[in-house]
Amino acid sequence: VDKTIIMDAQAIRRALIRVAHELAEKNRGVANLVLVGIRTRGVPIAYSLAEEIKKIEGIEVPVGILDITLYRDDLSTLDYQPIVHETQIPFDINGKIVVLVDDVLFTGRTARAALDAIIDIGRPAAIQLAVLIDRGHRELPIRADYVGKNVPTSRKEIVSVQINSIDGAEQVMIKEI
Ligand code: 5GP
Ligand code: MG
Repeated sequence: VDKTIIMDAQAIRRALIRVAHELAEKNRGVANLVLVGIRTRGVPIAYSLAEEIKKIEGIEVPVGILDITLYRDDLSTLDYQPIVHETQIPFDINGKIVVLVDDVLFTGRTARAALDAIIDIGRPAAIQLAVLIDRGHRELPIRADYVGKNVPTSRKEIVSVQINSIDGAEQVMIKEI
């Protein structure tokens, strides 16, 4: 398999620090923010963002979890459906700015399902989307408010995101499938 490293641990860290600054800037501080990581790798990314926000603003932003899986045979199959499983959002989201956090944005179907799940739970002031990688190929009118790195891909490629706490390595690669 052909592999190209497009972000190393340093690059991921720098991107997340930048996004943490953007979150604080766009929302005039972080007092009203909550983060919701989309399992699996959106969750440690959300916690990393919360950590960087704490360093910048001195405020602990709550982090919740949404578990959404896509039913499909492989990453190149386009007609898949996201299924929302359990949500762990043990705090009030009414009137809050909810920032969904995911590792990769592709068709937008997962983000759409996440919007539904959040709207089921409460009435946030706004919902925003932060992703480590935007690989393009949207099939819905969805875009990310915060992007670690835009990575134009072909549909034959997949982006491999490795996060230390899950994969024992921290890097992003493009793989030919
Ligand atoms: P979408 O729903 O936008 O088509 O795909 C986004 C979801 O599927 C994310 O939760 C992401 O984890 C996963 N995903 C889609 N494409 C890729 C990819 O190329 N690499 C990785 N690591 N995840 C992907
Ligand atoms: Mg995912």
